[in-house]
Amino acid sequence: MGGQGHEKAGEENHVNYQTLNKRAIEDFKVRPNLADYKGTRDKFSWDQIEKELDGLPGGGLNLAYEAIDRHTKTHRKDKVAMHWEGKNGEQESYTFAQMSEMTGRFASVLKGLGIHKGDRVFCFMDRIPEVYVTAFGTLKHGAVIGPLFSAFGPDPVKDRLLDSGAVALVTTPDLRDRIAHILPELPELKHIIIVNKNNRFPGSLKEGELSYEKLMEGASADYGLPATTREDYSIMHYTSGTTGKPKGAVHAHQAVLGHYATGKWVLDLHEDDIYWCTADPGWVTGTSYGMCAPWTNGVTQVIYEGGFRASAWYSTIEKYKVTVWYTAPTAIRMLMKAGVEVPKRYDLNSLRHICSVGEPLNPEAVVWGTHVFDQPIHDNWWQTETGSIMIANYPIMGVKPGSMGRPFPGITAGIVNSATGEEMAPGQEGDLALRPGWPSMFRTYWNNQEMYDSKFKNGWYITGDQAKMDEEGYFWFIGRTDDVINTAGHLVGPFEVESALLEHPAVAEAGVIGKPDPIAMEVVKAFVSLKDGYEPTDELRHELMRFSRQKLAAAVAPREIEFIPSLPKTRSGKIMRRLLKARELGLPEGDTSTLEDD
Ligand code: ATP
Ligand code: MG
Repeated sequence: MGGQGHEKAGEENHVNYQTLNKRAIEDFKVRPNLADYKGTRDKFSWDQIEKELDGLPGGGLNLAYEAIDRHTKTHRKDKVAMHWEGKNGEQESYTFAQMSEMTGRFASVLKGLGIHKGDRVFCFMDRIPEVYVTAFGTLKHGAVIGPLFSAFGPDPVKDRLLDSGAVALVTTPDLRDRIAHILPELPELKHIIIVNKNNRFPGSLKEGELSYEKLMEGASADYGLPATTREDYSIMHYTSGTTGKPKGAVHAHQAVLGHYATGKWVLDLHEDDIYWCTADPGWVTGTSYGMCAPWTNGVTQVIYEGGFRASAWYSTIEKYKVTVWYTAPTAIRMLMKAGVEVPKRYDLNSLRHICSVGEPLNPEAVVWGTHVFDQPIHDNWWQTETGSIMIANYPIMGVKPGSMGRPFPGITAGIVNSATGEEMAPGQEGDLALRPGWPSMFRTYWNNQEMYDSKFKNGWYITGDQAKMDEEGYFWFIGRTDDVINTAGHLVGPFEVESALLEHPAVAEAGVIGKPDPIAMEVVKAFVSLKDGYEPTDELRHELMRFSRQKLAAAVAPREIEFIPSLPKTRSGKIMRRLLKARELGLPEGDTSTLEDD
């Protein structure tokens, strides 16, 4: 592992990207919550963070209580928690008091059905307000919520419900129809609750199913206080499946400390913010940051049910006057693909802070942000397993395009040799690792304690990503350990090659793999999709070869380039390099349950 003993090729890559200078604190429209990174790090304690939350009498802790109920005792009672915009243009707004009432009812519903603390309740719906009621109602009751992507077909739903032993499924008539044939194959699933929002599907309740609306009508809004402790399980999420079969990472209520603290210092959430997280609740960003972080900070958020369309997204920012925006590289690349003219048609002046997660953010995208939004996009890094942001670019720090930033206060990150636990010197590549014990750390992989245990070695949690740290403590992503390419003795991270290709005006997206080679062990092969208006000609292919050779050391530049209309991605927008490789080599594709439709 690691990379020690190998010469690192392409080290000087991206030197042309200058650090975007640190801004003086007076220059901010809104004074950042994290004004002094080092000082805050030095005196940081999770106990201090916990004091900013309410807790339950007797020492318990509950995520729903911290996110919703506690605000009803303050000036935030009638503040809007959620502005919802439906895919048919519907608009609804809910205050913290209303959310408290509805989640109280849903918790009472679960109690009435005889669902116990720790039971798994899964939710399979489009991004409608009922998803949020279901999630926090479940948490209030002390059951475990498992959100699923509404785009899943029957097999991924069945796999996850079987693996988790879910006792209840909350879904809508259209999605129930899609998966109807698997439902009898789930022995532990006792309750199917059908949400028929605004009577979108009249008369669609089937025998044995329960109506959400009826249950809610008959339930008490006064559930009383939750009875959970820090260590009770709260949310379970299956990972994105980028590198293999998705694993069910389980979190505890204590994760709320991480959601709250990172919301405050990384997303820089302030009382008057209007926040928009574009992630679907089907993956962890949609829960940690599309539910927990904004609401534990008492901030109004926008939920947009529709899919991606550049004009619709810009229009959402304009309409709701979004101030803080959390999105993903794949979305940013799609906005870049749509061109710089589209954003000019909208007033995007409300935006004051933009963050990105999920994949490496190409330096070109950071720079594009400075042109289109007049500010850098702040990359940050974390995983389903870590539960909250671990490494980040903070508003107060200079941004080095292509770097994930520096560890969150309270988090110790290192570059190690996972075999020995030895830490690498700055500049050296190795396994990105974290010191275990932060509050939002996953507590197990459901039904797979062995795999969980295997992630901890020599006092570190080994993330499965390769990275390096520079002299100033900034972390740089190299690639997933599984994706790193070994070509003629050089270790090559796909990200640096993809980023170089992305600098070419014709390239919309690039995915890079190692292709087995009898002499070099592997050679670098790039799959490229082009921006509108460019043709996949041999001439362009040669130009891209030349272009990447200028940017990268010759050994690192792709030996082969293949044009494809679009790259295979997970539903959370991550490039599935393992699939590109399997297809290239004619091997079985493995688990494709999270593969996005074309
Ligand atoms: P699986 O574990 O099933 O293969 P996955 O790792 O993609 O899927 P997630 O937990 O959703 O599942 O994603 C976390 C991973 O995403 C990280 O380990 C890292 O590889 C990548 N990632 C997230 N944010 C960043 C970032 N800012 N820069 C680079 N990589 C990132
Ligand atoms: Mg992973």
